[in-house]
Amino acid sequence: MTNRLSIAVAGAAGRMGRQIIGAAASRNHQITGGTEAPDSPYLNEDLGVLAGIQLLGSTPSGTISAAAATADTWIDFTLPTVTLAALDGLTSSSVKTVVIGTTGFSSQDEEALARHAERFAIVKAGNFSLGVALLSALTQIAAEKLGDGWDIDIFEAHHRNKIDAPSGTALMLGDAAAEGRGSALEALQSPPYYGPDAKREAGKIGFASSRTGDVIGEHEVRFGSDTELIKLSHMALNRRIFAEGAIKAAEWASDQPPGHYGINDVLGLS
Ligand code: NAD
Repeated sequence: MTNRLSIAVAGAAGRMGRQIIGAAASRNHQITGGTEAPDSPYLNEDLGVLAGIQLLGSTPSGTISAAAATADTWIDFTLPTVTLAALDGLTSSSVKTVVIGTTGFSSQDEEALARHAERFAIVKAGNFSLGVALLSALTQIAAEKLGDGWDIDIFEAHHRNKIDAPSGTALMLGDAAAEGRGSALEALQSPPYYGPDAKREAGKIGFASSRTGDVIGEHEVRFGSDTELIKLSHMALNRRIFAEGAIKAAEWASDQPPGHYGINDVLGLS
């Protein structure tokens, strides 16, 4: 049976924050607090109202220590600087499990996250949907089986407000493709195809992004030879899938020792 978690939600009024509150409540977990930006218009709004569920009796706080006062779990879908500041602020709290959905971390940020994983069980994923975890596994297999002679390009589309590009999911798929080729993405990532001298280099992995309307998330991995094109693709139809995956990750991580985990660990796909 799953433990009842006491969850604090960072960025509680955000697109994902609201979904996380709803998904946690529907799994009978307790929402004990949340944060919002100091200038957010939602600081006095009940967390349950934000999520479109029953009143929960607490509002987002501007401070991490107040939000985490009685929490054992921190779920964070905000911005890299905000997530890292939260981890610093949580050091002397009762929080043991941290689930990070925020994307756009630099390699320096990743080093800071690795240090925090000595204190917390951190699950971080660029995409918490089961379908994308499977797409990632299929991408790795296809890259390995098809070999270096095939071109690999990754296309992603998101809503107009997304800040980082390529998306965290596209990079995750790029990592999977590179791993299938026995290499690291840093060694294989192509510069963007843009400008008069933008010819594709053989063996590289390319990325393309679109930012239009309210698209939740579309990803496609293309493998191309001279004679064939294979397309593996996924489309998110509702943000709930990410929230449900994040709650599943929190439940799983509540039984784990400190460490840095990914969605494949949660789903037993590693
Ligand atoms: P959003 O802008 O709707 O929500 C972010 C929230 O963070 C906002 O409400 C904002 O006010 C709040 N915020 C800003 N500064 C803050 C601070 N100092 N303290 C507390 N809260 C603060 O964005 P979103 O669409 O919910 O996405 C958030 C992040 O999650 C992005 O990085 C996005 O790429 C990522 N994301 C990940 C997944 C996944 O499955 N891993 C899925 C969707 C989105």
